[in-house]
Amino acid sequence: MASFPMQQLTNLSLSYDALVVGAGPAGAATAMLLARAGASVLLIDRNLPGVGARHAELLGPESAALLAEWGIVEAIARSTPALHRTTTKRANRLGEIVGSSTIEHAPLYAPLRSLVDPLLVDAAIAAGVQTRFVTSLIGLLRDSSGRVTGARLDIGEEWTTTVRARFVIGADGRSSATARLVGADILTHGGLGISRLCGLIPCTLDEIRHHQVEGMSLDVLPTNDGLTSISASTPFVPDANNGAASRSSRLRSAVATLAPDLFLMIASRRFAGAVVEHAARPRHQRRASGPGWALVGDARASSSGIAHGIASALQDAVRLADSIRNDIEWSAVAYAGVEA
Ligand SMILES: Cc1cc2nc3c(=O)[nH]c(=O)nc-3n(C[C@H](O)[C@H](O)[C@H](O)COP(=O)(O)OP(=O)(O)OC[C@H]3O[C@@H](n4cnc5c(N)ncnc54)[C@H](O)[C@@H]3O)c2cc1C
Repeated sequence: MASFPMQQLTNLSLSYDALVVGAGPAGAATAMLLARAGASVLLIDRNLPGVGARHAELLGPESAALLAEWGIVEAIARSTPALHRTTTKRANRLGEIVGSSTIEHAPLYAPLRSLVDPLLVDAAIAAGVQTRFVTSLIGLLRDSSGRVTGARLDIGEEWTTTVRARFVIGADGRSSATARLVGADILTHGGLGISRLCGLIPCTLDEIRHHQVEGMSLDVLPTNDGLTSISASTPFVPDANNGAASRSSRLRSAVATLAPDLFLMIASRRFAGAVVEHAARPRHQRRASGPGWALVGDARASSSGIAHGIASALQDAVRLADSIRNDIEWSAVAYAGVEA
């Protein structure tokens, strides 16, 4: 796996066919597909690939099919347990089980993002993409018609630089700076998403588990390194009571309520690293493209169900790359009409 050396500014060509902002699944896949089609591409991220996410994510069949096509799924399968079964349990407020089902399915994988994102970035680099990490988008360049023609980047230590690009692609997640800077309209507002507490615990299970009681749910995903990822939907607690110890004990208490048998297994174990809270945010769908720019993944549309987020990000990458490849003007007209 690449070690992602910081490139010196002098190694950067300052003009590209595409600048991709954000090296998560949407950005790394878009950069890789454009480079495979012959475009010169710079991929930037304000972090190092895969840094920050403290949870596993389930790759549904659509994600797995695309990752297999791109030669990445084997590396995931080598170090991630294959999950052949999902058990769903529903309980009433007294903790009594009122419904339980187990389904067998083709193997599914729930890798950590710290595995998936670097693999996708490796594939982009192998396709010829230039990368620069710890680098943030802070402004846009436009021509006299208003078309986006490049970007201003913060490259660290109070240095900024400008990069010209025929196309700037915002893959910078749901709080996308690209979307804000291009002024992408919000086309639809959904309701408020759910807030989730996520932690990783040393414990091996052989199935995916989903537990529900009224108004609360718990997703349990066995993942890499002998860890299990536990994610509970919770009422969001504002900062004052929301230190690391509080988040950890709230997650334990959610497990005790929703999955008492799992609680017994993990009672004496410590979470590996911090428990992280993802606050609920409004769902949205933004205009997908305009002159010289496009949005992919969560920057374009927050997914209707989190289990489809990666699939939707990868599918955006495919649609945008196809659209640009088939359009000599790089107008991404065919992509403009995509829907969430
Ligand atoms: C708790 C939780 C659990 C989830 N579980 C699942 C699941 O099981 N299955 C599933 O399919 N989906 C899941 N999702 C959804 C999934 O994580 C997202 O849909 C997916 O990450 C979207 O990918 P993306 O590349 O669009 O954005 P992101 O993964 O958010 O990547 C955006 C990237 O842009 C970078 N960035 C941001 N701003 C800037 C800037 N100004 N300059 C440079 N770089 C910038 C960020 O550092 C980041 O690397 C989950 C989400 C959460 C929060």
